[in-house]
Amino acid sequence: MLVVMKAQATEEQVREVCRKIESLGFRAHPIPGAQRTAIGITGNRDAVEAGTLEEMPGVGEVIRVSKPYKLVSRDVKPENSVIRFPNSHIAIGGRDIVMMAGPCSIESRDQAMTIAEQVARNGGHFLRGGAYKPRTSPYSFQGLGEDGLKIMAEVREQFGLLIVTEAVDNESLDLVEQYADMIQIGARNMQNFSLLKRAGRSQKPVLLKRGMSATLEELLMAAEYILSEGNYNVVLCERGVRTFADHTRNTLDLSIVPAVQRLSHLPILVDPSHGTGKRNKVAPLGRAAIAVGADGLMVEVHHDPDHALSDGQQSITPDQFARLMSEIKQIAAVLDRGVVAPVSTLKPMFT
Ligand code: PEP
Ligand code: MN
Repeated sequence: MLVVMKAQATEEQVREVCRKIESLGFRAHPIPGAQRTAIGITGNRDAVEAGTLEEMPGVGEVIRVSKPYKLVSRDVKPENSVIRFPNSHIAIGGRDIVMMAGPCSIESRDQAMTIAEQVARNGGHFLRGGAYKPRTSPYSFQGLGEDGLKIMAEVREQFGLLIVTEAVDNESLDLVEQYADMIQIGARNMQNFSLLKRAGRSQKPVLLKRGMSATLEELLMAAEYILSEGNYNVVLCERGVRTFADHTRNTLDLSIVPAVQRLSHLPILVDPSHGTGKRNKVAPLGRAAIAVGADGLMVEVHHDPDHALSDGQQSITPDQFARLMSEIKQIAAVLDRGVVAPVSTLKPMFT
């Protein structure tokens, strides 16, 4: 159920309706929009009695939401959500495109600093990098853990890049939320519902990657878990799905970008690195992702990809990243978009 307040409803009237919803034993999610505030109601197995709410001052209408996802839906919030970060000009989901770049794994302080310098110099906004790695083999490098998070925090100090890194379980999430600006939930955990609920109770924005066999509806329902716990700052990320095609690691499903945008107000990024698994396909698919309307990219960048401890084969080099940034600026302009201003005043390789 959704209570749509009248455009001229006062804040007190919104609060009164929320109190009423909570007194009926449900949870109220007031979501302010450009025209009016909508209040999502969750926790109801049966229909809420619309009559009691409809008569309250300031209420425009009470709508039954028939879709399984509610808070992520454009029914609740017709305009795009823009995710902002404290003390930063960086926003995700606005007019301008955002770039998350960095190694698959944080391997050492030197490695992270070297790559971060190139990412910042060439216009990247976030350093990505795993401290907790969900690896297929238990014998593969599992990440540096908290030491990796400390290195990332140092990178933020040094270069002004924001930090996005994956939490693989509730314990790592406790640490990731202390150090990072954004919590990444990986493809393998997209339907780890207790982890999603924990992320929903965090104050930090969440980057939710699509599961490797997840449908659009399953992705939106996973995001709904996070919002239903009160964290509305969620960004989706397409990273490829499993198909019969074997010329790439995964099949990057770019059509999900406009499909998500039709149904949901949440921003969506694309990861052409995990999406293709091949270095020579990262830039072409990255360019295509911007053309299709993504709000940004997440790409793996490594200064020495042949010796990377994970995913070297799909990591682009810093000069390839610099070139991609310059191409993206031009593609964005065609769509009347720009790229978020750089965090660094260092001179880029290409302009
Ligand atoms: C990652 O981005 O580090 C990662 C492991 O990606 P995914 O969850 O999409 O496989
Ligand atoms: Mn990787």
